[in-house]
Amino acid sequence: MTGAVPDPLPDWLRDARRVTVLTGAGVSTDSGIPDYRGPQGVWTRDPDAEKLVTLSYYVADPEIRRRAWRMRADVRAPDVAPNAGHRALVDLERQGRLRALLTQNVDGLHQAAGSSPEHVLELHGTVHAVECLSCGDRTSMDDALARIDAGDPDPACLVCGGILKSATVSFGQALDERVLDAAAQAAADCDVLLAVGTSLVVYPVAGLVEVAAAHGARVVIVNAEPTPFDGLADLVVREPISTALPRLVGAG
Ligand SMILES: [Zn+2]
Repeated sequence: MTGAVPDPLPDWLRDARRVTVLTGAGVSTDSGIPDYRGPQGVWTRDPDAEKLVTLSYYVADPEIRRRAWRMRADVRAPDVAPNAGHRALVDLERQGRLRALLTQNVDGLHQAAGSSPEHVLELHGTVHAVECLSCGDRTSMDDALARIDAGDPDPACLVCGGILKSATVSFGQALDERVLDAAAQAAADCDVLLAVGTSLVVYPVAGLVEVAAAHGARVVIVNAEPTPFDGLADLVVREPISTALPRLVGAG
């Protein structure tokens, strides 16, 4: 079934007790965070911008790092706040029906909306922390941006002098195995997998949909554009996320 949110909701969705949610950039676009791969995405319009999040370029080129830090300063934009889609997933958790919230987003908006940090698995890391690529020392993005504001355009690790980078997973960098394992468990152990605002083209995350389906879960996809898994889904919704999600979780 493809199109609008069904009214009434199918029993299997309304009665689902363990819902694993997988979110992508589409959840955050209503909050003013750009979608990188969509039709109007940053990388679609400016392929060179992809270098900012590609590890080999980042390590090799100080100018790429300076540009990347300036991009990270955007996380402080005062108008970036959670939207109705994020809040609907907080409602799902309060209903006691959230198995896990897996996100490809690095913006921290699920936690800002009120989702419990222990329920959120950040598959691609977070922009709110910074890691040293040499010694692994972890500090806050706020501290790094304060150093940039103070005139250091490419701050080095204060422990070892190594290159610092946002604690996000860049191209060429592996996902955290523990986070990925926990995500796979949550996909294998749910009644419904709800994939929202993700194009489902990037592996290994896209494979989580197959894991859920292989373990008998129903699959719901909410995305503006078709995904490779629409044919496998029990329900595909094309409506805007911030209006569809509250109704899908019975909160609207
Ligand atoms: Zn270091």
